[in-house]
Amino acid sequence: MFIVKRKGLVSILVFISCIAFVCSYSYISSNAMSQKGENLKKTVERGIIYDRNKKELATNMSTSTIWSKLGHLSNSTKVHDESKEPLKVTLTIDENIQNFTEKAIDNALAKTESKRAMAIVMDPKTGDILAMSVKSRADLNNPVEPIVGEEKDKLYNEIWTNPMIRDTYEPGSTFKLITAAACLEEGIVSPNSTFTCNGFSVVEDEKINCWRHYRPHGEQSFTEGVQNSCNPIFIEIGQKLGKEKYYKYLDSFGFTSTTDIDLAQDRKSFIQDKNIISPIEFANMSYGQGISVTPLQLISAISAIGNDGKLMKPRIVKELVDSKGNIINKYEPNMVRQVISKETAKELGDIMESVVSHGSGNKAYIPGYRVGGKTGTANKLIDGKYVEGKTYSSFVSLAPVNDPKLGVLVVIDEPQGFKFGSLTAAPAVKEIMQNTLAYLGVKKQSEKLGVQ
Ligand SMILES: [Zn+2]
Repeated sequence: MFIVKRKGLVSILVFISCIAFVCSYSYISSNAMSQKGENLKKTVERGIIYDRNKKELATNMSTSTIWSKLGHLSNSTKVHDESKEPLKVTLTIDENIQNFTEKAIDNALAKTESKRAMAIVMDPKTGDILAMSVKSRADLNNPVEPIVGEEKDKLYNEIWTNPMIRDTYEPGSTFKLITAAACLEEGIVSPNSTFTCNGFSVVEDEKINCWRHYRPHGEQSFTEGVQNSCNPIFIEIGQKLGKEKYYKYLDSFGFTSTTDIDLAQDRKSFIQDKNIISPIEFANMSYGQGISVTPLQLISAISAIGNDGKLMKPRIVKELVDSKGNIINKYEPNMVRQVISKETAKELGDIMESVVSHGSGNKAYIPGYRVGGKTGTANKLIDGKYVEGKTYSSFVSLAPVNDPKLGVLVVIDEPQGFKFGSLTAAPAVKEIMQNTLAYLGVKKQSEKLGVQ
């Protein structure tokens, strides 16, 4: 998709194509992507954006308006004076990693027959977004029936949006890593702490089931509890931590604010007010339910675990360059804050590795690489009600866990058949990781690592 002549340095038009691709999944078909991307680039070059049928979507736009329309650059980004020459944009997107990601998302979409699939690949050390892809199974380039009226307006509006930044979803058990991070940091648990799962917890006289209530996990260490994704353990440690401290970590991990990425539509999560949340709702949040975050927020937070506990601001634009190669604006990696200690981050990285080598994340296992991860499956909330059978199934991962080069999040929207993130999203994460680690020249540490 990305037609880049020199690695890293891309023209503003390619930037526009890139962002347009990222944002316009709803009308670019999942096949013949490069051809459609090229078409899109050519139309933008003429200063007009057309759809595939040559219908004008927008015209007579200034450079900054195109940026605004397509990239939705945030107000904080300095836009070049339009009376001067256009500037080239160096993105953090890597065309090869983007390609691996798109292929993995295509495969996931076909295998799961889901409504939508999306992925973000981040460099945990810098917060650089190396790839970002979202695709829908509906091919709106080949509609069976004409789309008219409000539905047409809605789809046109969606062309300009990026759901990985703008939309929130319930993260489910991937969020247990946030509870784990807070509780390890505060000394509430250690990896070897022991717990007993009887298949349920009781909070305020209400029974909350473990997902495996039909065959309780029994006695297990905290590490095994994460491997098993056992709900009662997280309810218990969440209660021990208390909501004041828990909310402090939600702040620190960036969930109560926007990520401040240089793309607009950056949304906050949906978190219940600390002052009115009920004990039951708080118990649910401890294991990832009743909270809604953006995919970008989640991968940024998990990447902090892979960066010695330091949260980075997500970066998409590296620099603006004029035609002579002079750098006009440079955007350095930006550390937001230290969220957890380096020691806690390492402990949690090791636990994440055990999830892949011995637990529910084994579909992301890559022989020889130390891959860490966590599954997540949550029923979708539609019009204020959970809908049985419709899920967001996801997998979040770091690799290699002892020195992470990559953070990857894959979210599958409404998979058919199997719903678990371990079976739907983990294989896509594995595909992205396997190709990207090889491409980056990350050497295998041992063929015997991570024996399942
Ligand atoms: Zn359990």
